[in-house]
Amino acid sequence: MKYVDEYRDPRAAEKFARAIRSLATRPWKIMEVCGGQTHAIVRFGIDRMLPEQISLIHGPGCPVCVTAQETVDQAIEIAANPEVIFCSFGDMLRVPGSNRDLLAVKASGGDVRIVYSPLDALAIARANPARQVVFFAVGFETTAPVNAMAVYQAKRQGLRNFSMLVSHVMVPPAIEAILSSRECGVDGFLAAGHVCTVMGLEEYRPIAAKYQVPILVTGFEPLDILQGIYMCVRQLEAGSARVENQYSRAVRANGNLEARRLIAEVFRVVPRKWRGIGEIDRSGLALSAAYAEFDAEGRFSFARQAAPKASECISGSILKGLKKPSECPAFGTRCTPEMPLGATMVSSEGACAAYFRYRQRSAASPAGASRHF
Ligand code: SF4
Repeated sequence: MKYVDEYRDPRAAEKFARAIRSLATRPWKIMEVCGGQTHAIVRFGIDRMLPEQISLIHGPGCPVCVTAQETVDQAIEIAANPEVIFCSFGDMLRVPGSNRDLLAVKASGGDVRIVYSPLDALAIARANPARQVVFFAVGFETTAPVNAMAVYQAKRQGLRNFSMLVSHVMVPPAIEAILSSRECGVDGFLAAGHVCTVMGLEEYRPIAAKYQVPILVTGFEPLDILQGIYMCVRQLEAGSARVENQYSRAVRANGNLEARRLIAEVFRVVPRKWRGIGEIDRSGLALSAAYAEFDAEGRFSFARQAAPKASECISGSILKGLKKPSECPAFGTRCTPEMPLGATMVSSEGACAAYFRYRQRSAASPAGASRHF
């Protein structure tokens, strides 16, 4: 397949693995902050190709997984309102709230619809002028432009029955929060290529300089990731701490200026609570004052929320890179994709879901046997 097969060539992958082995003289911990990269690492057994000095740590790279339980509870409350058509991407429907999930609301008669774009929700709003239509806007900077475009168009079209429950999060403040935590043992980062396609590289340069860590903007195919790791180890061994762009076929230094302009017009930067991690300053996007009329939080009132229940789920430690999914006592037994206890088992980008899908079957296989380049 054009633009896929050439990035999955097993011989080229083995060459990169050999080059990394010959470079690494000391233990290095490298964190990826992208659920797509986590899945590729686990699916293709990339971590098992590396020398034992190199540990890959899975960071908070899945926006579904980090959406705060309180926000999921708000979504559930709105969706249960009989006057509302609630639109969401499919993977949010199984994320547990305090007592139930959006799928349970749908099963009990709520009008919860899976859409593939916020623009689908706009079309639903135009077709149902007597109903309130709410879109659940969850995501990193990657999905912010299309969500911004939906609100921009709603304003231009004078749609009064459309709003968004916004829970956008941003990657650079999360990297900074991890680096400034006392538990941090991360030596270098793979930054998400798709986020940088929108936002560019500039936000990462002060972080690399302040914390003296290399940050490699990296793609998602196996050879992208192996090359990103190679470039990261090369910097670490040389004592360098720069932002480098492995994904130059898609990422420009300034990103997508038109998308950034739209994000800056429609959204404003706010503190955001990350599930399992806590509040991170300036890590979220909310609607700006000019678009506040489309904010579902202002349009609906909410019951006082219950404090999150104690759970055996350790996804907070997994999202901070302190534990692996296989270290969770509930993994694969009490917690499966069919009966998830935490969001990291629900989302297609979640680390627990990746381990369940690709590591359960190959648990008895020798190292590297899960590779299917
Ligand atoms: S396996 Fe399930 S319970 Fe354990 S951390 Fe992952 S989501 Fe939480």
